[in-house]
Amino acid sequence: MFDYDLLVIGAGPGGQTAALRAAKLGKRVAVVEAREPGGTCVNRGCVSTKTLLHSSELYRSAREGVAVGVHAEGLRADLGEIFQNKLRVAQTLSAGVETMFKSAKIPLLRGRAKILEPHRVRVTGPEGEIEVTAEAILIATGAEPIRLPLPGMDLPNVLTSEELLQGPDHLYRSLVIIGGGVIGIEFACFFSDLGVDVTVLEGLDRLLPMLDRELGQNLALILKKKNVRVCTGALVERAEQTETGIRVHFTMKGKPDFAEGEAVLCAVGRRAAWEGLFAEGLTPELEGRILKVNERYETSIPGVYAIGDVASNTQLAHVASAQGQAFAELFCGQESRVDMRVVPSCVYCRPEIAVVGLTDAEAKARSIPVKTGKCVLGGNARTLIEDPGRSFMKVLAHAETGKILGAQLMCLNAPDMISQISQAIANGMTPRQLLLAMRPHPSFEEALTEALEDLAAKLEKQ
Ligand code: NAD
Repeated sequence: MFDYDLLVIGAGPGGQTAALRAAKLGKRVAVVEAREPGGTCVNRGCVSTKTLLHSSELYRSAREGVAVGVHAEGLRADLGEIFQNKLRVAQTLSAGVETMFKSAKIPLLRGRAKILEPHRVRVTGPEGEIEVTAEAILIATGAEPIRLPLPGMDLPNVLTSEELLQGPDHLYRSLVIIGGGVIGIEFACFFSDLGVDVTVLEGLDRLLPMLDRELGQNLALILKKKNVRVCTGALVERAEQTETGIRVHFTMKGKPDFAEGEAVLCAVGRRAAWEGLFAEGLTPELEGRILKVNERYETSIPGVYAIGDVASNTQLAHVASAQGQAFAELFCGQESRVDMRVVPSCVYCRPEIAVVGLTDAEAKARSIPVKTGKCVLGGNARTLIEDPGRSFMKVLAHAETGKILGAQLMCLNAPDMISQISQAIANGMTPRQLLLAMRPHPSFEEALTEALEDLAAKLEKQ
């Protein structure tokens, strides 16, 4: 008899969802966590970043309020208090996770886990070492920031996002960000809104290169308007300490150049975190750097499962949660009901970006015939009022079946609207079906009606 039916390693979004769901379905579950419950998302990732962005956004709005008749005298951003607030939110959510575990009678074992053999785990924590057995072990240990293997990347003020999120002791005059992906962009928005002189160095030919081209191109224009220096196609070579800060050398279009900052943020991706997790001789099969799993999330080691960033190339909290739920349901003999093919993804810049499904370029590369409907929000009342900069919505449908296949939204509240399209994709809906319901006025969503009407007209005209 094992101590538990399921032992979950990692209390991030994936681990906590799996644990709670399996417990609800009657399994005896325990969770091992080395750090704060809530994982990267709550403590060192999405939620922390969004809390900081809320502060910088309020500061920016107050500063720019003059344009709409709001005058804030003596406006000041206190970095210490901003980071303290971020900690308060993280601690509240982290405590919430502990409470949920307690209510579900899930013991939280504090410490670092090592899988000794299938069904047996050693937990080394503040109170010493214990060994625990379980019918199934679920690895949900997430990912950790990558540091570039280049000269100077070990200088004291070259930081990863996790280090920067601990809170600088003062507001930098200038910051160089290596990587124009999601993390790089969100930090560029936070610091530039607080008045920091920001440079973004992106190796590929546009910002957010993994998304639709138009998004990255528009974002670059918006950031440049905020005085952010944006360098794309910038191949970083090394960093060196100068008297005033850190100089990052790079080549752009074959020409050597440099950017200088009081600090450097290295935001070039995250890699699956499984080092030290397996006892010697226990070697899981990998797929690149992630743990290889089958359709039931089982690794090559029988009884050992993995979900989330440690086993997925899509590093998103909601993907980890969905996988956690699917794993638990399959483990408990149920059918999983989440459609894993429909994955929305968001960037919390201003205006926000939210995407789901295919882009034009991806459809073309896969020879899928598509039509695209578009609405530029220049005439949208809410957008005119809040003036976030160039905003647009694109929706794609299969040219023959008319079924919606994807959307790219760059506008205020985009993350809260993208689910209309996710639902449409998951349920095989057409633009006309999405147009059946009216949308409120004035709202950002009215632009979605326009994009869908444009798309429906193009589909019907052919
Ligand atoms: P990323 O993969 O999104 O972006 C990294 C960027 O760095 C890429 O654009 C890449 O081209 C660039 N790059 C790589 N090496 C470089 C070099 N040597 N010089 C210049 N540029 C270089 O990774 P990230 O921004 O670190 O984020 C990590 C993961 O976390 C991503 O999967 C992201 O989706 C996820 N995340 C999501 C959210 C969100 O959903 N809002 C927020 C933060 C992070």
